[in-house]
Amino acid sequence: MFNHCSINNFPLDCWNIVNQYGFKVKKYSELKPKKLEACLELSEDANIIGDTVYYNENKSHNRVRFSLMHELGHIVLESNDESECDKFSSNTIAPRMAIHYSKCRNANDVAKIFILSDQAANIAFDDYRRWRRNVTIYGMSDLDKQMYEHFYNDDAKKFVWSFERCDFCFTDYAYNEQSLCETCRRFEIRKLIKAQRIDGQERNLDLSRSNWLYGQL
Ligand SMILES: [Zn+2]
Ligand SMILES: [Zn+2]
Repeated sequence: MFNHCSINNFPLDCWNIVNQYGFKVKKYSELKPKKLEACLELSEDANIIGDTVYYNENKSHNRVRFSLMHELGHIVLESNDESECDKFSSNTIAPRMAIHYSKCRNANDVAKIFILSDQAANIAFDDYRRWRRNVTIYGMSDLDKQMYEHFYNDDAKKFVWSFERCDFCFTDYAYNEQSLCETCRRFEIRKLIKAQRIDGQERNLDLSRSNWLYGQL
């Protein structure tokens, strides 16, 4: 799915991904009353009818995102297994490797970065810890290696899970939730160090001035 949709940025645009698989996305409220009734009976969250994924827009944003990826699971995996599609959704919205490289410390971080409900984020974070333990003991699986390769960025020379234009130079990319590119960041740090040094010098100067004024030299 990440290859198919050329995804290299989190949080996912779940609507766009469903579209990329040739399905339209519509709200339950766009259905005629009879169809809406039938839809709600099948699922209060989302349903696939023909080439359209319908979702209940009265649910929370987090939950709608999860439901859309759950429905995509039915399409991609060609499966009717609900728990399998839940796992698909959880792993696409918050891949365990991306949780790792985004340095999430707890379920709250996962919920915030990947946009998941608290409940879904808890499940994802627990599963991430299991995944990390397995990787530590047995090494990366073939799928892990493919994931790593897909998200490895040659310019940044690391696993990149988010990138956008640098806030300062607009020509380079800022990776992994930074707002400045590497070059501008180094420049900023240098400026900061210089400013601190000047600050320090001025403080010393002030001190000696006041000492001189009050005769404590
Ligand atoms: Zn389902
Ligand atoms: Zn820059």
